[in-house]
Amino acid sequence: MKTYDKLYINGAWTASSGGKAIDVINATTEEVMGRIPEGTETDANAAIAAARAAFDAWSQTAGPKRGEYLAAIQAKLKERAEELARTITGEVGVPLKIAQRVMVANPIHTFGTYAKLAAEFEFESTVGNSVIVREPVGVVGAITPWNFPLHQIALKVAAALAAGCTVVLKPSEVAPLNAFMLAEIMDEVKLPAGVFNLVSGYGPVVGEALAKSPDVDMVSFTGSTRAGKRVSELAAQTVKRVALELGGKSAALILDDADLAAAVKATVSYCYLNSGQTCAATTRMLVPESMYEEAAKLATDAAQGFTVGDPMGDARLGPLISDVQRDRVRSYINKGIAEGAQLLTGGAEAPEGRPKGYFVKPTVFGRVQPSMTIAREEIFGPVLSILTYKDEADAIRIANDSVYGLAGTVWSRDEERAKRVARRIRTGQIDINGGPFNPMAPFGGFKQSGRGREGGLYGMEEFLEYKAMQLRPPKAA
Ligand code: NAD
Repeated sequence: MKTYDKLYINGAWTASSGGKAIDVINATTEEVMGRIPEGTETDANAAIAAARAAFDAWSQTAGPKRGEYLAAIQAKLKERAEELARTITGEVGVPLKIAQRVMVANPIHTFGTYAKLAAEFEFESTVGNSVIVREPVGVVGAITPWNFPLHQIALKVAAALAAGCTVVLKPSEVAPLNAFMLAEIMDEVKLPAGVFNLVSGYGPVVGEALAKSPDVDMVSFTGSTRAGKRVSELAAQTVKRVALELGGKSAALILDDADLAAAVKATVSYCYLNSGQTCAATTRMLVPESMYEEAAKLATDAAQGFTVGDPMGDARLGPLISDVQRDRVRSYINKGIAEGAQLLTGGAEAPEGRPKGYFVKPTVFGRVQPSMTIAREEIFGPVLSILTYKDEADAIRIANDSVYGLAGTVWSRDEERAKRVARRIRTGQIDINGGPFNPMAPFGGFKQSGRGREGGLYGMEEFLEYKAMQLRPPKAA
């Protein structure tokens, strides 16, 4: 049991003004595994005031010095990596190996990246008679979700601190313990008071307080499209900058000359990563009509290889995050059946031998039509839809037939062809033939998947303003 009864505001552990707490539930056992404060608007405003007061000094601190703090945070994250991974496996239900290799390794990498960028970035350049200065945007409100909790926090917090911004973090109330561990680290490395503040609590209270405050210059939000729209509406009243990383409905476009077995296996794995609770998950698999039967068989076999069980053990598929999420995913499966898709494997009932925990069977639907709900809405569970297409143009049309535009994959033995098709797909990321995730590449969405980019240099630039200073040309002698 990890209990945190204080928020981290202005460099000090501080009790919430409301005095209430939120339980953190273990997704596998359904037992209470921790407790955090239920922050209030008053708490959020105290944190914002602290961040405002700290901004002048932090923004004037030299880049290399800010980099030293970030490197020190990275070192402490490494020391606590195993404890962090086990905590995240408990909160989220993700298999421990993935918690270690992705959910903790990525944030460690991210703090390292921004330590270097803070030290090396050229904050000034010259254009004609102007000196162009990149200045931090100001106080940043960071609002994050539960699915890759520390990764999403690191992408915002490390980049903002590197840029010279101060931060108020509102982590997901569903998987918040890792954020408190990060705050402990911020305290240990003696980051100046107010530079980083942590206020846990519910989105409509703490999140909305950040979005509407006139003292917050930018809100960086990752989460659902629904909440992202609300944050944008509130932020518009003070014309603050808004970065949004929202949902997705990514297509795996398998062309007729692809290595079908490799493509299907990778698509199923990417769809089921973190029990399907991955914004970039390839949830729509597009195959040529002539290859449907073989693709359906390969996908069914691959899905059945995903053993459901204890994520601390060797199961490949852990539970979903919560009962709400489990019930939502099961209702999508029922909708798929009702709308006439073919259930190839899985289904809405609980997996055998799992009376406890928020488990859902690995599910594959065949003969899915682009108009069906399961082909259009983000399910956020282990549910793959297989759709067929007539020719390349039809495949591109179906892939783009979505309000989302986050990610996708293209598979072809001809890399030039794959790249040509990839250029036609309206998404922020495309992996070709299983090209691996690149943490230095910009990540973010087209269309309703969001606005702005995270990762590497692109992620840091989100937190910078331009200032142009015009110099008077020297008088001719
Ligand atoms: P969510 O929108 O419910 O919550 C995200 C965060 O927003 C939480 O901290 C929550 O407390 C807060 N929030 C909720 N309502 C709010 C409001 N009215 N005002 C301000 N803040 C509010 O999302 P979730 O269920 O935690 O996460 C799942 C969603 O996140 C999925 O849609 C997924 O696709 C998306 N996601 C996107 C990315 C990406 O990079 N594009 C990454 C991960 C997750």
